[in-house]
Amino acid sequence: MSVQPTPPTAFRASAPGDGARPTPMMAQYIKIKAASPDCLLFYRMGDFYELFFEDAEVASRALGIVLTKRGKHLGDDIPMCGVPIERADDYLQRLIALGHRVAVCEQIEHPAEAKKRGPKSVVQREVVRLVTPGTITEERLLDPHRANAFAAVARVKDSDDGWRYGIACIDISTGAFSVTETDASRLSAELSRLDPREIVAAESLCADDKLAAILRGTGAPLTPLGRESGDGVSAERRLTGYYGVATLDGFGALSRAETIAASMALLFVERTQIGTRPNLARPTRVRRDDVMEIDAATRANLELTRTLSGERAGSLLATIDRTVTPAGARLLAERLAAPLTDTGAIAQRHASVRFFAENRDLRSDLRKRFRRAPDFMRSLSRLALGRGGPRDLEALRAGLVAADEVSRLIPSEDTPNEVARARAALQEIDHGIAKELTSALAPDLPLDRRAGNFIAAGYDSALEESRALRDESRRVIATLQARYCDVAEIRQLKIKHNNFLGYFVEVSQAQGEKLAKPPLNASFIHRQTMADSMRFSTAELSELEAKIASAADRALAQELTIFDRLVATLLEAGEPIKAAAQALAEIDVASALAETAAANDWMKPDMDGDLAFSIEQGRHPVVEAALAATGEAFVANDCDLSGDRGDAGRIAIVTGPNMAGKSTYLRQNALIAVLAQMGSYVPAKRARLGIVDRLFSRVGAADDLARGRSTFMVEMVETAAILNQATARSLVILDEIGRGTATFDGLSIAWATMEHLHEKNRARALFATHFHELTELAKQLPRVTNLTMRVTDWNGEVVFLHEVLPGAADRSYGIQVAKLAGLPSAVVTRAQEILRLLEASDRRTPGETLIADLPLFSHTAERVAPAAHSAPADPLREALATIDPDALSPREALEALYRLKQSARQKP
Ligand code: ADP
Ligand code: MG
Repeated sequence: MSVQPTPPTAFRASAPGDGARPTPMMAQYIKIKAASPDCLLFYRMGDFYELFFEDAEVASRALGIVLTKRGKHLGDDIPMCGVPIERADDYLQRLIALGHRVAVCEQIEHPAEAKKRGPKSVVQREVVRLVTPGTITEERLLDPHRANAFAAVARVKDSDDGWRYGIACIDISTGAFSVTETDASRLSAELSRLDPREIVAAESLCADDKLAAILRGTGAPLTPLGRESGDGVSAERRLTGYYGVATLDGFGALSRAETIAASMALLFVERTQIGTRPNLARPTRVRRDDVMEIDAATRANLELTRTLSGERAGSLLATIDRTVTPAGARLLAERLAAPLTDTGAIAQRHASVRFFAENRDLRSDLRKRFRRAPDFMRSLSRLALGRGGPRDLEALRAGLVAADEVSRLIPSEDTPNEVARARAALQEIDHGIAKELTSALAPDLPLDRRAGNFIAAGYDSALEESRALRDESRRVIATLQARYCDVAEIRQLKIKHNNFLGYFVEVSQAQGEKLAKPPLNASFIHRQTMADSMRFSTAELSELEAKIASAADRALAQELTIFDRLVATLLEAGEPIKAAAQALAEIDVASALAETAAANDWMKPDMDGDLAFSIEQGRHPVVEAALAATGEAFVANDCDLSGDRGDAGRIAIVTGPNMAGKSTYLRQNALIAVLAQMGSYVPAKRARLGIVDRLFSRVGAADDLARGRSTFMVEMVETAAILNQATARSLVILDEIGRGTATFDGLSIAWATMEHLHEKNRARALFATHFHELTELAKQLPRVTNLTMRVTDWNGEVVFLHEVLPGAADRSYGIQVAKLAGLPSAVVTRAQEILRLLEASDRRTPGETLIADLPLFSHTAERVAPAAHSAPADPLREALATIDPDALSPREALEALYRLKQSARQKP
């Protein structure tokens, strides 16, 4: 594997025979590092992970830790930095977030063992794990509300010479494993649905520029995984081997691409987890037709699970998420990312939401109970990987108890299918396990099992004996110290302990002389003289030492054995426990959606197999929530795109001035379709919706010079994708397409696009545009209608009513909006003048003639604003000058407007 392009030149240069010989430890380091050249190597030395050479430089910069040096290599200082073991997780988290990968190298023998081989021998070390963004399991490294999966992408030749792509997605933190197959055109859409934290693919795929661009386009780091990852046969062997089955028959007919992808995913698990085996579910197949297809641009555009700036807050997901448990939040995100297309399956989810919507008391009881349920799915995975601790056992105990209580709260009869199934899964749990854990676990639990003392007093008699011995011996030390004080007549005599001497007697220099002479030297054996003290051992102390050490060791060993036994019991019951965790998440999601529906007055949509699309009083949930926060009301609007004859939907062209609410209206209808098909109620008074197979949403954009590409090009590429892929069952949202180019160009493209959508794709579509000419299409194309945003003039100022009406906008309100935005009055007046002239003249008059006819701007400006020159600096004007309209989102523009209005009021 290789990812970070930081070739470890320092190590290459140090091949044997280079002259200066590295120290034995450096030689070991270099050898280990060479095996994981693309990872930062965390090299364990005592209580630290040390990084050397370029790794040290990279890490010290990334983590802001001090770069020091240690010894020399080939005559140069070796740069070094270190992170203490107990803070390693924090540092790992930051490095992973920055896209680094880390190889964790541990000492795999006790330093004492190494010493036996000779004074210069080095402690044996091995890389025990690669930590990569897509394979983390630590609670502190994971986002509780987000799945943490990696995707393996495999490519196979199709019979008719095309390529097919298999995608396997594994979340080690929960054991989830899914596979799917797709063609090149839908690869990016599939990946955006899966939203992996890391993508792995064969080197040859990564080297294919076009493909690598698609893979990288997801934003997830791309990890090349060796050469082409074997054929179908060896892939099948890896899969059957992992699950210990003879054939793949039980997996549901996996395609060749899926099998190879699944096998690659397992290979990546083996490479990163090195020797430990996560508890993975069998791969489940996702068929493309089962879910609404939403491409990456549409997801981004509609801000389904994150906003355009990449945050969860402000997304549709964040607005609707009222789940209580982390697993519930993850399931909700997964469902929102993959709305269903099967009316039966959708109806089942709606039935669950209705059940919890109608049973308010049950819902609130359940939600109270959920608040105490920990994320035990992830705990179980950690335990399976040998990375779990006593607190994971406690999470399972609490989780199993919660599962039991929830199953009792849910009535046994008259529940919808999904709820009944979940209840049955919860009842499968063996109560004995929770009971066992309850009696086994101590009240206060350490994070690390090696800290010991996590097994409750009285749970195990053998452990009790060792503990008694260990604690008894400690009392004996205290008695011994008192006795030595008496014998030696030294009040300040202390019995201390360190790793080198074990237990020893420590006294001051002066008093030490006394112990070193007869008669006391018969029992006190001098060991060390320090700056101001002397240390002695005694036969009794050595004997006790051995006893205490062995009792403490024995107690810890016994605890660890009990730990392992409890883990084994849990893993044996792994399947029902996982099913119960999944059932809890499902109930959490259904009751949370009911909660959202109740809180916001959402209704159950009627799903239809046909091309219906009629929404009464629909709202945009995110804009509505944002407005509610400022005390403003959202204006609900209807939408009807239903196809009459069943083979084609309607197209509505929406015109109206900027800021009138066109984009909001378009998006709310798309969001309602997504919410309905994911199984949620919808923000509308009534909705009758025919299943949408694919959803497209595009926004025309001004040139994005900052990113160094023409967004018009992007806009056209995306529009092409729609025209090539949309079917009669699709829903298409086009917002100001054609804006990024010259007027006549843009208008022509928009016109032709509409015709194609109407004649060929026949999809249901909403098209917002500033080209008024397009409203003419309604006269020519039978299924096109015009809608416009209601706006009124009030004292010469434009007022937006956010109400959608049939018909075309009679005029553009651009100049009024400009005035509202605080454009200098000279400019507004001048613009009105130009507009009058333009409207009076033939629109097709060549620009030059028109412009030649216009009086000079300077002339008007002087006429209107003579005072402007002598006026002192105007803060309002200055504030306005700093605004870059092209860089503002509609919301930011509105906020800027409010700010300007505010400061206008403050003026004397
Ligand atoms: P347009 O696309 O026509 O320029 P937007 O859809 O971006 O307009 O809407 C501009 C602003 O108007 C939104 O940010 C929102 O604050 C407000 N708005 C839009 N639609 C509504 C509505 N139906 N009810 C209330 N406010 C709305
Ligand atoms: Mg808009």
